[in-house]
Amino acid sequence: MKNIVLFGGPGAGKGTQAAKLKEKYSLNHISTGEVIRAEIAAETELGKSMKDYISRGELAPDALVIDIIADYVKSHSDCAGNIFDGFPRTTAQAEAFDKIMARDGMKVDVMLELVVPEEELVKRLMLRGEVSGRADDANESVIRNRIAVYNAQTAVVAEFYKAQGKYVAIDGIGTIDEIFDRLCAAIDAIE
Ligand code: AMP
Repeated sequence: MKNIVLFGGPGAGKGTQAAKLKEKYSLNHISTGEVIRAEIAAETELGKSMKDYISRGELAPDALVIDIIADYVKSHSDCAGNIFDGFPRTTAQAEAFDKIMARDGMKVDVMLELVVPEEELVKRLMLRGEVSGRADDANESVIRNRIAVYNAQTAVVAEFYKAQGKYVAIDGIGTIDEIFDRLCAAIDAIE
């Protein structure tokens, strides 16, 4: 079983690459951002409680996101593996995640960070905003806030996995297939 944390700033290409990795390695894929957007669209209580954070480009509260992941892990402990996309995003989430995984006899095997410079992230998100329909891609100040939040609260999560010897940096600049090949080489090396 392979459990992969796909990491990187907003617009780094996590969703695009996760879809390809899922296919190639028969993995399950969870994007906490997608789960949250679905909850908001369905107007559930959970969705309502997270909507304002997301529209401002801020993080949803740890406790809510950790619950989403705990439910997911419980029902995905018996498969080829999982790609966690957009989670963990804070050190508190990473610490809780280790405990949640251990409870079901699982562990994170590797964190793969798609490394993309900040101005390239802004450029990609502005372009994506023209087609994605995502409220948080639609204006530059929300995009810049998401990157600021990433730098302030999320980037440090890489240190957590570096300390466990599980961190691999992947150059996130190039064609989708070039970046995919780099990710696959890193995954094939973990066995
Ligand atoms: P994403 O689709 O990964 O870009 O996430 C979109 C938005 O959902 C983020 O800007 C956050 O507001 C929220 N979100 C997604 N994942 C998390 C998480 N692990 N912790 C807190 N908020 C999250």
